[in-house]
Formats: sequence, C-alpha cells, structure tokens
Amino acid sequence: MIERVTELRAHLDAVRGRGATVGFVPTMGAFHDGHRSLMRAARAAHDTVVVSLFVNPLQFGPTEDLDRYPKDLEGDLAAAAAEGVDVVFAPPVEEMYPGFPTPPLTTVSVAGLTGGLCGSSRPGHFDGVATVVAKLFSIVGPCTAYFGKKDAQQLAVVRRMAADLCLPVEIVGCPMVREADGLAMSSRNRNLSPAEREAATVIYRGLHSGADVVIGGERDAGKLRRVVANVLTTEPLVRLEYAEVVAADSLEPLEELTGDVLVAVAAKVGDVRLIDNMTIRVDARGAVVDLGAIVAPTVEGLCAAR
Ligand code: AMP
Repeated sequence: MIERVTELRAHLDAVRGRGATVGFVPTMGAFHDGHRSLMRAARAAHDTVVVSLFVNPLQFGPTEDLDRYPKDLEGDLAAAAAEGVDVVFAPPVEEMYPGFPTPPLTTVSVAGLTGGLCGSSRPGHFDGVATVVAKLFSIVGPCTAYFGKKDAQQLAVVRRMAADLCLPVEIVGCPMVREADGLAMSSRNRNLSPAEREAATVIYRGLHSGADVVIGGERDAGKLRRVVANVLTTEPLVRLEYAEVVAADSLEPLEELTGDVLVAVAAKVGDVRLIDNMTIRVDARGAVVDLGAIVAPTVEGLCAAR
C-alpha cells in the first residue's frame, strides 16, 4: 500500500519508463463485486493495476453519511491482492487536501451535467467528485481509468472533465453488477437493516417494469417514468427521490425515447440513499435494454444463507 503522492508518482513513472501500461480504478473502498469487476477489467488489459482507496470528504454534503460510510481497509487490501492489483493507493486526507478541513482553493466544476439528477439533491457533490478525480488523474498520470455504469452521472461528468482538460487518461465504463435479487451492489448496502435490504429490491423491480413496457413498444418518456416511479412508491420503507428519463450523453430530459437513453432513479431506504439505472438504445429496429449483470451467489454466500 502506498500513502504518499510522491511515492506513487515515482513508482508509476518507473513503471511507464519500462514501457508498461497502467490501469487505474478509483474507489472509496468497502469492496464488493462491482469494484472487483473493475479491477478484473483493468487486470485483463494492463501490465500494472492501481486501485485508489479514498473516502473523499469533498463530495459529501454537511448532512450526508461521511461518518457512516463503510470502511474495511484490511478486507479491501486482501480483496485487491486476490484480484492481482499491484498497488493500492490509500492516502490520508491531509495528503489529498493539505490544510484539511480548510477546503482547497482550486476545485473542478463540470457545468451542464451536474445540475439535474443527483446534482439537484446533492449540491456540490459532483464538484467534489470532479476535483478528486482530476487530482487522482494528475497523481497517477497517463493511464486507462475504469468506472462503473452504476454511477452513470459520475461517469458522464468524469468523461467530460477528462476531455475538457485534455487529461492523458482513457475512460472505460464497465457494466453494472447486481446482487442475485437485482439490488445494485453498493458499499452503502452494508448500512441497510434486513427489512430495508428486502424493501430495496423494489428499485430493481421498478426498473424492470419500465424495461418491460419499453420492450412492449412504449416510446413516451413520461409514461416510462411513471411506470418506474409507481412501482417504487408501493414500498413504504422506500422514499423515491427521483425517477428520470434523460439522454445518456447530455443528461437532458427526454419526451420521447430515442437514441441512447438513461433511466436513472435515486431513493432513500431508511437513512441510506441508493441510486440505480438502466440504459436503453432505441432505434428504428427496436429497443435494447441494459440492466447490467446479476452475479450468481458465491458458494460462501449460499452457505451463509442456509
Ligand atoms: P465507489 O467506491 O462507490 O466510489 O465506487 C468506485 C467505482 O466502482 C465507481 O466507478 C463505481 O461506479 C463502481 N461501482 C460501484 N458499484 C458498482 C456496481 N454495482 N457495478 C459496477 N460498478 C460499480
């Protein structure tokens, strides 16, 4: 594990000096199969794989769950080693933000993609994300960086930021990974009570109902939105924050389903805020829905469930 910026830079400069390529996976830790799938994609394509593990305070609002965000350094280091990760970069907060908790004077803001969806209820969140990812890209240097489609708005923001700032980083979006019952994997799922965990499956069922009407021929974005929202509001433990149908690249709201469409939802289950989405490619031939991949339960998981 490396904690210092200068040490990581020197190490990766030497790696690239030998002609090796670098795959980079930025994370906030508490690894699950979604994180592991990104590590595997990076491992398959690169000589050296770097995973960063940093719970970025800049992307949490004052009333959000920074203090409750799950942490498991030992488990994460073991999981990264098992995936063949070469370097885990886990900087202390002062290493990333000297003078913390005084905020940095320089931040990165991606206008236009950050006002809607999660941006409306989490003001400043995407500035925090863009700032930390820009810093991490600057520290890691030329590389290919792997992000999950689970965080679709974050992926759009990071892509745009890297392009606008001419950063020497290729961005790869990886499929969403789900639990066997459809719940999108998230570090925050660890904070759900058993009843909330059960209730949270309504999010996937809502998206699935939306997928069904689109496959059945529906092309009205408002109707699709209502189908998804109606399912989510049937569950008393779940408070829907938004269900939106937008263009996948601009994140602008759509009236009619056409091209690459993102159906994104956010909901509070107890105190835990969860997000989920599906993408739909609509053309004259029909619609193809991408709800991500459901992973088979592991042998250990089956044993624990018995
Ligand atoms: P986080 O640690 O939650 O900040 O996530 C680190 C990376 O893992 C981000 O690129 C996320 O989009 C990705 N990720 C988180 N959950 C999933 C998931 N269920 N499937 C695929 N990627 C994910």
